[in-house]
Amino acid sequence: MRFCCVQGGRITSVTAGGQQIRAGVFIDATGRRAVLLRALAGTQGFDDGQFSGRQFDNRRFDNRQFNDRQTVIWARFGLPGVESGAEFGAGFGNSTWLEAAPNGWWYAAEVPGRAAVVALGTDPKLAKAGGVYKVHSWAAALSGTALIAPRLKQARLLPVSFRITASYSYRAARVVGENWLAVGDAACAFDPLSSAGIYKALVNGQEAARAICDGYREAYANRIHQDYETYLIKRAELYQAEQRWAKSAFWAQRQGRAQGEAQGHRSVSPKEMSTLA
Ligand SMILES: Cc1cc2nc3c(=O)[nH]c(=O)nc-3n(C[C@H](O)[C@H](O)[C@H](O)COP(=O)(O)OP(=O)(O)OC[C@H]3O[C@@H](n4cnc5c(N)ncnc54)[C@H](O)[C@@H]3O)c2cc1C
Repeated sequence: MRFCCVQGGRITSVTAGGQQIRAGVFIDATGRRAVLLRALAGTQGFDDGQFSGRQFDNRRFDNRQFNDRQTVIWARFGLPGVESGAEFGAGFGNSTWLEAAPNGWWYAAEVPGRAAVVALGTDPKLAKAGGVYKVHSWAAALSGTALIAPRLKQARLLPVSFRITASYSYRAARVVGENWLAVGDAACAFDPLSSAGIYKALVNGQEAARAICDGYREAYANRIHQDYETYLIKRAELYQAEQRWAKSAFWAQRQGRAQGEAQGHRSVSPKEMSTLA
């Protein structure tokens, strides 16, 4: 989406893929890109109702409140076919595997197509210092895991699948407007450790539909914010549970033992947000 036109507090049209789209209600379901919300954040006086049909470039603005700025570095592995008879460690079965590490956590799960996805969640600065933005160093770090590496025996790393993805925890300052709503990760995003993002997106979609039909938009907004508060409490408990690495900056920051982003709401600058776009 390139432009968003707002008039009298209502979105009148958006321009996407070279087409101008008009609708009675607009829903931002663009995930972590939050394209519509960021376009709206670009309006001067967004909260005081002084809209005047201006057009805004959506790439320069963001008014989300961030609680954590982790990054996820991940890749796919090809698993040997069942018919090959190759030994495939113990496999991951139907479970998602999580393994804490000094500088973050590892995540692994089988996905359709005889493949597995393996991810490292960490801080961008730690990733840079540890060299794990490079596939070989990342694979070397993975080989040191106690639970996940043995389950990848005979699996083949697919280097072209290697990716770095922002996995920030945040909520939008506003999720409902005159004729728009945000759902899923556009409204708020959880740490992948919560394993709740897909469920949340589906439930948000149902609730947003009801809010549009029945007009309970404030109730919808309150629900999103309550869910996010509940998530923050659960998330704190989750990170508190890992007590092995007293000197680790990653865990200290998330356990309230260091000053940092996990301790309060913080907006990121447009420059920082460019890593998400
Ligand atoms: C590494 C990792 C692991 C995760 N593991 C889990 C897990 O185990 N369980 C779980 O429940 N959740 C997990 N999540 C979170 C989950 O993936 C998300 O919360 C969920 O996908 C959010 O759904 P969504 O529909 O809001 O956004 P998305 O799934 O991101 O969908 C947004 C869609 O909008 C499209 N889009 C973006 N910009 C535009 C545009 N300008 N125009 C048109 N379309 C656009 C995108 O292409 C995409 O199709 C994980 C996330 C990460 C990063």
